[in-house]
Amino acid sequence: MNRKSFVHHALGTIGTGVLANILPNSVFATGTEASEEQKSFFLKNVKLETGFVKDDLEVTATQTALFNIQIENGVFKKISKQGGTDKAIDAKENLMLPSTKDMHIHLDKTYYGGPWKAKSLRQKSVKDMIALEQKILPEMLKTSTYRAEKLIELLQSKGSDFARSHVNIEPTSQLQSLKNLQIAIENKKSSFGVEIVAFPQHGVYYTKSDQLLKEAAQMDIDFIGGVDPFSIDGSIERTIDFTVQTALDYNKGIDIHLHEMGPSGVETIKYLIAKVNENPALMGKTFISHCFALSTLQGDDLTAIIEKLANAKIGVVSTIPIGKIYMPIPQLIKAGVNVMTGTDCVIDHWQPFGTGSMIQKANRMAEMYGKSDEYSLSRCLKIATRGLTPLDDDGKMQWPKVGDKADFILLSAASSAEVVARNTPVNALFRGGKKVYQAQQA
Ligand SMILES: [Zn+2]
Repeated sequence: MNRKSFVHHALGTIGTGVLANILPNSVFATGTEASEEQKSFFLKNVKLETGFVKDDLEVTATQTALFNIQIENGVFKKISKQGGTDKAIDAKENLMLPSTKDMHIHLDKTYYGGPWKAKSLRQKSVKDMIALEQKILPEMLKTSTYRAEKLIELLQSKGSDFARSHVNIEPTSQLQSLKNLQIAIENKKSSFGVEIVAFPQHGVYYTKSDQLLKEAAQMDIDFIGGVDPFSIDGSIERTIDFTVQTALDYNKGIDIHLHEMGPSGVETIKYLIAKVNENPALMGKTFISHCFALSTLQGDDLTAIIEKLANAKIGVVSTIPIGKIYMPIPQLIKAGVNVMTGTDCVIDHWQPFGTGSMIQKANRMAEMYGKSDEYSLSRCLKIATRGLTPLDDDGKMQWPKVGDKADFILLSAASSAEVVARNTPVNALFRGGKKVYQAQQA
């Protein structure tokens, strides 16, 4: 079926009669409908992936079937080919996939929601960018709550219901960027989840941000961030030691930006691996964003460091860059490193290209790394969903399961492979069984 007919149908259904009591009328509904989440409703004609079709050489197609799905109290209650009710909402053979997760974004710092503005040519280095931020952040803070909410709405329209947001902690913003973002998160909490990285964008010591970070660590954040310790603060050890100790003291994870391409980038990775091995509490909770230094390594050097990252359970969050930086993403995944992706910037003073779509990131990954067959394309979806796919690697159905939280998207596509290859637009997003986004009629 085409996208338009689904949208047309859904718009015609929702908002009238009984269904109006089940699904909120407003696309961007907030907490006022909380009581409606307790109710039960059926979706019929939902396309689910049920297995792979194989010949003697390869997976040739993805098998699907139509299901009736009951959702109650925000979770999948019943998934079957029979049953349902007359009042079921017709999904019109849309494919159901897990909602996507944007695992690296700066919700607090964006031009999105305001006038168009491209990047300036004046700033060449991260230190130039810090000087720029010291000038422009006071003005940006005036609209940062509103813009964060608009950015969340953009992410929802692309299928994401969750983000990991870095938030500036530095002497210019003090804790205001965090406070402004926390208001936006509160306003959106019934339809979008956020975990926060307290991010010393201007260095821990380059500008004096260490005490502010400790204060932020007591303000409902999840990770201690960082940026290029050697080139910004002038010391790998001093900054990483502070970051690790603060994470341990306040029981947080770590997610640091590492753009450095020279030997200091590799040294920083190695030092962080050593610190995490010394402090196993940080295993599985420590991430390096960008980690471009990996793109400078080859052969045994690369294999060895990837193995160490995997053993220390340190994840890598990559925007899947194009151009000169070619990240070893397939090798990382093969070695068992937790690789996730994110938008980073949508429109801001760093760059103007982000779409907010994790499906687009999966698409880019597939194209860059030559994943063009049905099976490989379907596996690329994992980077958009934090690992969750309808079929496991052997083709066994693993999602959705009864009892899973009903966080999903609906799209007009034959399979997740088609979604990844064709960058299929999202028709609807549900979080906790509640519709939080629906495509507008064209
Ligand atoms: Zn970033």
